[in-house]
Amino acid sequence: MEKRLLLIGLDREALKTALAASGVPAKSLPMRVNQLWNWIYVHGARDFAAMTNLAKDFRGLLEQNFSLDRPEVVTAQLSEDGTRKWLLKTGAGIEFETVYIPEADRGTLCVSSQVGCTLTCRFCHTGTQKLVRNLNPDEILGQILIAKDTLEDWPSTAPGRKVTNIVMMGMGEPLYNFDHVKSALAIAMDGDAIAMSKRRVTLSTAGVVPMIPRAGNEIGSSLAISLHAVTDEIRDQIVPINKKYPIAELMEACRTYPGASNARRITFEYVMLKGVNDSLADARALVKLVAGIPAKINLIPFNAWPGAPYECSDWSQIEKFAEIVNKAGYASPVRTPRGRDIMAACGQLKSESVKERASARLAAEKLADVQSGQLARMPH
Ligand code: SAH
Repeated sequence: MEKRLLLIGLDREALKTALAASGVPAKSLPMRVNQLWNWIYVHGARDFAAMTNLAKDFRGLLEQNFSLDRPEVVTAQLSEDGTRKWLLKTGAGIEFETVYIPEADRGTLCVSSQVGCTLTCRFCHTGTQKLVRNLNPDEILGQILIAKDTLEDWPSTAPGRKVTNIVMMGMGEPLYNFDHVKSALAIAMDGDAIAMSKRRVTLSTAGVVPMIPRAGNEIGSSLAISLHAVTDEIRDQIVPINKKYPIAELMEACRTYPGASNARRITFEYVMLKGVNDSLADARALVKLVAGIPAKINLIPFNAWPGAPYECSDWSQIEKFAEIVNKAGYASPVRTPRGRDIMAACGQLKSESVKERASARLAAEKLADVQSGQLARMPH
C-alpha cells in the first residue's frame, strides 16, 4: 500500500495541489482547503471521520489518500510544578522534546527546531548532543498539536486557551532551520489556523546574524537573543558561534531588527553562571551594550545537568545584578526555573538520538539482511 500523505505542515498551496492530485475538482479546491484548514488547525481534528460536516465520500477520499498523524509520544512527564514534558518520535533515532509551562496569566509552549544542535554552548545540555537533523514543518507543528491535544485546548480560537505563547527555545537553533521554522510558524500564527498572536510567538537565537533580518521580515515573530556575556572573550568561550558573529555584529542586527519597537521589545537572555558572567561590572556593561535597542532582559538562573561545568550564581548575586539592570530602566525578570525535576528547564533538553554513521547503518542493514536470510541467497 502506498504511504498516505501527511497533511500537517503543508501550506494552503501545497494542500491544494495534494487535493487536486487525489481527484478533487478544481472549482471546489478553495472551499475544501478552507474546510480542512479549519478542521486541522482550529478544531484539532485527528482523523477525517471527525470532520462531520464533510460528505461521506469526500471523507473516504481523504482517508484513503492522506493522514493527520502526530508524532508518537514516547514519554509524557508532569512536574510537581505543573510543567509538562513530552518526548516525541517520528522515526528511528528522531526524538525531540517539547515543554509546556503553565503560569497564572499564560501558558507557554517551548518548541524544538532540531534534533540535537550544532552550537555547543558550554552551559547547554542540548549542546552536548550532536545534530541529528532539522525537524520538518510537520514535526515542529506536531509539538504544538500534541500539547493542545493533551491540554484539550481546542478549538484554538476559543477564549481562555491554555497555550497562549510559543517560544522556539527547545532543542536546536531555529535560524539554522529557517525554512521549516518559517513554514511551521506561519501556520501557528495564521488567524484561520492556530491563530497565535505574533507578539506571543518568540524565536530565540544564539546569534545567527545573517538570518536575523530575514527572521524579522519573513517570519515576523518576536525575537530573543541568547546573549549571556558582554565581552567577546567570555562569549567566545560559552557561546562559540560568537567567534563567527561577534557581539558588535549581533547588536547591530538587533538595532536594525525589522519590527522592533518600544511596544515590541527584543528579549536578551542572560544565563547566570557563577564567577563567569555574573559580576556587577558585567551588569553595568550589559546595560551599556543594549543602549538604544528596545530591550528587555531575561535573567536565567543556570539549570544544572549531569556533568555540567558550571554552577548557578548565588541568589543574592542574581538580585544585585537584576537591580542594576532594573535601575537602568529595563524590565529584568528573573526566569523562575520550571520543571527542573523532570529535566524540562531551559537548557536541560536532550534526547538519546544520535546520528548513525553511514558505516554503522550499513552494518546494521547487513545484519538485518542476514537475519532475514536474504544475504544467504546473494552471490558473495
Ligand atoms: N539555539 C537557540 C534556542 C535555544 S533557547 C538559542 O540559543 O537561543 C534555550 C535558551 O536556554 C537559550 O537562551 C539558552 O542559551 C538557554 N540555556 C541553555 N542551557 C541552559 C542552562 N543550562 N540553564 C539555563 N539556560 C540555559
